[in-house]
Amino acid sequence: MRYIEFVRPDSLRVWKNDKVRERLSWYYSVMRGVMPPKYLIVKNLTIDLKKNELTVISTEELLKEHTRLQKAFNELWSEIRESKDPWKHLKNKVIETPTFLDLKIELADRLASPCRLCEWRCGALRSEGRMGYCRVHGLNAYVDTFFHHMGEEAPLVPSGTIFYVGCNFRCVYCQNWSISQREGLPSEEKTSEELADIQKWLALNGAININHVGGDPTPNIPVILKSLKYLDIKTPQLWNSNMYLSSEAMELVRDVIDIWLPDLKYGNNACALKYSVVKNYFEVASRNIRIAHDSGDVIIRHLVLPNHVECCTRNVLKWISENTRRALTNIMDQYRPEYLVVRQPDKWSEIRRRVSTEELRKAFEIARDYGFEGPVEDLWYLE
Ligand code: SF4
Repeated sequence: MRYIEFVRPDSLRVWKNDKVRERLSWYYSVMRGVMPPKYLIVKNLTIDLKKNELTVISTEELLKEHTRLQKAFNELWSEIRESKDPWKHLKNKVIETPTFLDLKIELADRLASPCRLCEWRCGALRSEGRMGYCRVHGLNAYVDTFFHHMGEEAPLVPSGTIFYVGCNFRCVYCQNWSISQREGLPSEEKTSEELADIQKWLALNGAININHVGGDPTPNIPVILKSLKYLDIKTPQLWNSNMYLSSEAMELVRDVIDIWLPDLKYGNNACALKYSVVKNYFEVASRNIRIAHDSGDVIIRHLVLPNHVECCTRNVLKWISENTRRALTNIMDQYRPEYLVVRQPDKWSEIRRRVSTEELRKAFEIARDYGFEGPVEDLWYLE
């Protein structure tokens, strides 16, 4: 018996379900090598500029070219999806002229200084090594650890997970606070080539996707895009994020990600401000999740919080049922008090416990009221 069949039999069983295969059809076909990952398609589109022009041309002109290439990308992607021989659409040679990926990298570097990669738009001069609100500095990545994660949703296991240091949220109950709420150490610094090597190692050793997480991957968009230049693996790229990307950053990432794993924690801005110290949460996260839904396969994670079923769970499930019906949803029960909730118990008393059976029952009842069916291995779906 193979290791995976023993440790996570659900990761094989889940693909027998028609609904899961249909909703994750792109990811499923990339994972099996039938289709190329999107980043390889992006690398195949050349742009109407010479290499030396890329760095001197105005951002406005680059954005216009990006819009044009995005249209070309969507046409090629659509051809590939419908083709009987999808790989033949990709050129099998080293491309000398700048590609759509080079354009994205140039735009990402510009967005990072002053930094507007996320909706904090804190303006840190990252190219000069300055640190942002997210505690990320410079343009290289700081990687706490990377490994084959066996605890993700069934269709994602084993997941080649890379934990980036730093985060643009300040969740008082963060389970990963030792990674998210600190600066990277010099020993953790990774260049784009080193980050590509990590991804290759994960893929060669059995990862069925490359899972960019943290903290949050958003502050690392420039180095992640650059790492794709050194990659040729056929493994799907996965974005595991709080989805607080700026709209400009979202446009850069959307074309290279095969499957999205966004959080949608709060159903209103007041709860987001109180527990994650973040403004305009719902508008930003929902805008980006809608874009992800329009450009790939999505599993939305909703963590049920104690005493927040009506104000958060209800609104989140209602929004999903009205806006992203193709997405699969994981209604998660694994909240536990951590970090500041433990250190300042009186201040956070309303979330200083696990979710009760009654609250979970209510969350599932709300899901069914909004038309969700399932779950299939923890994943709910809408018809
Ligand atoms: S990603 Fe970090 S540095 Fe960039 S705007 Fe957001 S908080 Fe600031």
